[in-house]
Formats: sequence, structure tokens, C-alpha cells
Amino acid sequence: MRPRRGRDPRGGRGGRGARGAPGPGGRWAGPWARTLERMRMGRRAQGGLHDARTGRVTGWEARGAEVLATVQGDGPEAFQVRFSLAPLSLAQWDSVIEAVARRPDFTARLLDGVMPYRIEDAFREARAPLFPAGGRDVRASCTCPEGGIGCRHVAALHYVLGDAVEQDPFLLFQLRGRDQEQVAHALRAATAPSAAPAGVAPDADALTADPVTFWKAGPRPNGLRADAAEPAPPGSTLRRLGPPPVGDDAEAVEAVLRRAWATAAAAAARRLRR
Ligand SMILES: [Zn+2]
Repeated sequence: MRPRRGRDPRGGRGGRGARGAPGPGGRWAGPWARTLERMRMGRRAQGGLHDARTGRVTGWEARGAEVLATVQGDGPEAFQVRFSLAPLSLAQWDSVIEAVARRPDFTARLLDGVMPYRIEDAFREARAPLFPAGGRDVRASCTCPEGGIGCRHVAALHYVLGDAVEQDPFLLFQLRGRDQEQVAHALRAATAPSAAPAGVAPDADALTADPVTFWKAGPRPNGLRADAAEPAPPGSTLRRLGPPPVGDDAEAVEAVLRRAWATAAAAAARRLRR
């Protein structure tokens, strides 16, 4: 897993984006911050939010699934915080990958490096938590006298990490034990077309049996839902697939596919903007 780090929460990779100070808003930061409410930290959560907003989390780094951070206390002393989530088991990750693989929209987005907006549906289906479910799902320690999960330094780091997952939601996967590339790899393996059984010729008649209905939409594939978001840049999926295996004409075929893809993507984008 590549390490991720942030310095002052007012800048840098783990830091604040253009949207404002670290806080409980946002698609990913919102549910992340609500964990603290479930942990009933009361005033310490407020203190943590204040610390996060005033730059007291002076550095953090995710090493694999564990985050190490330094948080400045009220006095001259700084405290070391360790934070992790309960990792998902191999079986849970397998179930998540299966659930994602059943959703072509999720699969396409993840393989394009975009976190699907409703990815939690797949985790729910797999009965695996993505966001921390509460105190029992979080492991934290701190070198301050309070020493752990209820202290404001852990709360401060929690808010800073909320901002980090807002900027890069794949950090959520990492905290559950797998990074973006590992998930993409598993997904490619789970969705690779299996080889056609030897000796079975494609059924050409099936394509021409009813020319009237051929171009009409059939029943909606099970579980397929449209993700109402801008399509990926034209060609990204084709680039990922590589040249089509059609011999010498691969380039010509790819050019045709690329044009068709761009036309369809532009039409989809127009529809979404309506
Ligand atoms: Zn502490």
C-alpha cells in the first residue's frame, strides 16, 4: 500500500481542500464524522473539532491500515495518536468484491479510479462495514493522560481523517485493509470474461431471429441501476482494456470504438445535464 500522509490540516495531501475547514460536512466526511456522535464523546468531540480546525494535528500518516499522528496539546507537549478500524476479513472482502462485481456501474467507476457514490450498498449487501459503525469498530490510543479512544486528540485526528476521506475516499478501503489497486485487481479478476467452452460455436441465429426487436432494450439486467454522474473521460475504459485482439487491424478497430465511445459519452453527458 502506498503511504498517505498529511501535515498541517490547512494544506497538503491529508489537509483541507477548497471546500473549507475540516468538519462534519461532505459526502464521505459526513458519515465519517457521525461515528463520533455514536461514540458519545460529548464535549471532547467539540474540542477535537476545534483542534482539527486550528491545525493542531501537525502530521499524520497512514501506514497500511493504521494511522499514526501527532497532535499538539494545550501546553507545549504534543501527543502521539494511533488509530485504526477493525479490518475486514478475507471472506468479507471477497463478499464485497462479489457484490461490487454484480453492479456493472460500480465496477466501471472503480476501475476508472472513481469511488461510486453509493458504494455502501455493496458493503451493506456483503454485510461488511465501510464507515466505522461506532466505538467498537475503532481502535485508538494516545500518549496523553486520558490515553485513548475518548480523548480530544483522537477526536481531532478523526475530523482530519474525515477531510482526508472526503478528498480521497479510497482511504476508506485502505483503513479496512485493502488499497485502491488491490480492490481494482480483485475486481478485474472477478469480472474477467471466462473463456467460451471449446467446440461451442456462437449462435448466429439468436442475433437475427427477430430483427424488429433486436435494437429494442430488453429486460433490465438484474441489479443494474444507473449511476447519475458524468461519464468517465471518453476512452479511459478502452485504454484500460488495451488494443482489441483482432490481429493487424487492431488500431483501426480501436479508432472506431473510440469514436463510438466519445459519441455515446457526449450523448450521456447531455442527458445528465438536462
Ligand atoms: Zn489524547
